[in-house]
Amino acid sequence: MPSAIERSGMTSFEGFRCTDCARTVTEDGATRCPDCEGTLDATYDLSGEIDGEAFESRAGGWKHRELLPFVPEGIGEGATPLVEAPRLTEELGVGRVLIKNEAHNPTGTVTDRGLALVAEAAARSGADTLALPTTGDGGQSAAAYAARAGLLSRSFVPSRATFINKAMINVHGGDMRVVEGRFDDAKAAYEAEREELPAADEETWFPAAPFDSPFRHEGTKPIYYEIAEALEWTAPDAVVVPVGHGATIAGLWKGAREFDEVDVVSGTPRLYAAQPDGCAPIVEAVESGDDPEPWEYPDTVVGSLEVPDPAGGLPAVEAVRASGGAGVAVDDQDLLDSAATVAQHEGLEVSVACGTATAGAWELADEGAFDPDDTVVVLNTATGNKDADIVRSRLMSQGI
Ligand SMILES: [Zn+2]
Repeated sequence: MPSAIERSGMTSFEGFRCTDCARTVTEDGATRCPDCEGTLDATYDLSGEIDGEAFESRAGGWKHRELLPFVPEGIGEGATPLVEAPRLTEELGVGRVLIKNEAHNPTGTVTDRGLALVAEAAARSGADTLALPTTGDGGQSAAAYAARAGLLSRSFVPSRATFINKAMINVHGGDMRVVEGRFDDAKAAYEAEREELPAADEETWFPAAPFDSPFRHEGTKPIYYEIAEALEWTAPDAVVVPVGHGATIAGLWKGAREFDEVDVVSGTPRLYAAQPDGCAPIVEAVESGDDPEPWEYPDTVVGSLEVPDPAGGLPAVEAVRASGGAGVAVDDQDLLDSAATVAQHEGLEVSVACGTATAGAWELADEGAFDPDDTVVVLNTATGNKDADIVRSRLMSQGI
């Protein structure tokens, strides 16, 4: 089979470059740097003609093929709506607030975008299993895309993962190991089992966690491309992003820089990283000016963001700093209230991770981070029904 580069034709993709030692890898099934285990990142030759009109003339979530390593077949991920939020606009005192609603993806979360690329890369490389430690959504997504690609999936989830995540991993036919404890315990179990893998001819794992391959964060770039197109090829002033592993905010920043560089859009937005204050290693690093340090005692109701040692901590922090944004950490009760407020004021069912971003946006507005005419985008990472029990519990604790 020709390599990705030989097949590229319609893309300006060059290869995957190690962010530590700069070695370039061109195999379809690239995972981490073969020399130093560093993170690989797709690079492109952006000197050619790339224009917004060409994108406008196409449909679907993978229409920006010039800026992708390859186009996966997929099951309808991406091309999600950017929804006006008029009451939030009024409450934040800005020009316009919009919610980029990733709940519309096939398994209801933003992780589907990256997993579509991961599954295709795994199949092309001859692997037979997608394997990952996951807070939950990534496991559900991996199980779905593995099923579609005719692969197995093995998810290591902490016991606290949502019921829907666990149920749907099973429903998709995925293998699941529920590990007592939190995400780091699931990660340790994954790593131990990976060490003990039987002979390679029995089962070949393709690592499907964020930054274990160049595909998860690359797959989130179209979120930004779609936002820019919906805003008639302008950059929003600010994007508030809930941050766990850091893949989404790193991808958004990469997409923003690419669109600015090829002149499809002029300028880039300020990116704001929102985390629960019970697990905020990226916010802490942004504020201290240092590299991210593992969070010692992670404790938040937002399971999807309870990632104490983010694989993409550094690129996430660099994205926030380079964009001129900031970090914001919010209290669990505030973020639950915010998720309910979005449901009550805008009609949208959003994740508690989005509640984190919305509570963060309120706090940022109070601090004067936004101008009165700013266009602010808040990212909803997942469908609200996965978290319905904890938001409802919060309402019941208030006698509602
Ligand atoms: Zn390297």
